[in-house]
Amino acid sequence: ARPARAAAGFTPPLRLDLVGERPYGAPQLAVPVRLNTNENPYPPPPQVAAAMADEIRRIAAGLNRYPDREAAVLRADLAEYLAATEHVSLDVARIWAANGSNEIFHQLLLAFGGPGRRALSFAPTYSMYPQYCRDTFTRYATEPRGADFSVDTEAACAAVRRHRPTVTFLAAPNNPTGTAVPLDTVAHLASAAAESGGLLVVDEAYAEFRRPGTTSALTLLDDFPNLVVTRTMSKAFAAAGVRLGYLAAHPAVVDALRIVRLPYHLSTVTQAVARVALAHAAELLAQVAEIRAERDAAVAWLRESGFTAAESDANFVLFGIFADAHRVWQELVDAGVLIRETGPDGWLRVSIGTPEEMRAFRTALAAAPAAGR
Ligand code: PMP
Repeated sequence: ARPARAAAGFTPPLRLDLVGERPYGAPQLAVPVRLNTNENPYPPPPQVAAAMADEIRRIAAGLNRYPDREAAVLRADLAEYLAATEHVSLDVARIWAANGSNEIFHQLLLAFGGPGRRALSFAPTYSMYPQYCRDTFTRYATEPRGADFSVDTEAACAAVRRHRPTVTFLAAPNNPTGTAVPLDTVAHLASAAAESGGLLVVDEAYAEFRRPGTTSALTLLDDFPNLVVTRTMSKAFAAAGVRLGYLAAHPAVVDALRIVRLPYHLSTVTQAVARVALAHAAELLAQVAEIRAERDAAVAWLRESGFTAAESDANFVLFGIFADAHRVWQELVDAGVLIRETGPDGWLRVSIGTPEEMRAFRTALAAAPAAGR
């Protein structure tokens, strides 16, 4: 006899600590202007899209085989990109790649977090860190940032000494605030983390949008074996759909990640398309300067209009401060402009779009009754 058919209203045996949890995700609404997920608003130029399509056609004939598990050629290309843009010379054994920097963080916590271990970050910061901690049974603690969202070096180092985390996350520039972190703070934190054998993970997802005068933590890698720097092709490279994140670290860190990564985690298609994107880096990154200029203009306009805008070294701006930020958000949605409800109470975050999209944002905000202008 066949087993009984499942009745309606099935409750699967979800882990008890996950009951009531919600999947992560910004609302995806079909409005004309979407400035809510810090994407690059410029699609790949037609010649780059064509090169990607040609490469997929070429490799398709070999898709009966698993991908290169080590993504060796792609990692060499990533090392070359970092050498060209940040003037660091990194052996391929110090580079690792995965499906977005999100998977990099997940792998880092699988390898270096776990039951009885702690991770630390500086709030407000990237909302995914606590989720990876939850999933890996790692305890998550935060130390507050200052009123201007900066990280106070002494307080941060004291927090590291107090919590003794195996992983400290420092987003630089930070999301959702856009705040850059001086290299001196990174060095002190790496040093404090080393005292208790912990890693300092500097999340440089927005590195290419930094203003002049700030330096990547990549330049400190030779001084601190416990320093990990993560990057992504999702933002500056205009390749969020490719899902390619990577890190630079000591080879022993990379070796540890090999233990926890899923077999063949990075598909042949992903590796190939990412390599085409890297080969066309100049064309894909061409809009970064324009996005930066548009960001600086947005900060200036917000301040001239009487709003508060946080300093930003990223491709978004956190602004406010509103008595009812949700109402402002809704009024913008009603005007066809989707931004993000995130950050401290009263603040909202706008991703930098094209000049036309930013014009629509300014018009909608200036006309929003709850914004109080
Ligand atoms: N780090 C920060 C601070 C981010 O804001 C994001 C994207 N929102 C990421 C990492 C992850 O990007 P991805 O997984 O697309 O590389």
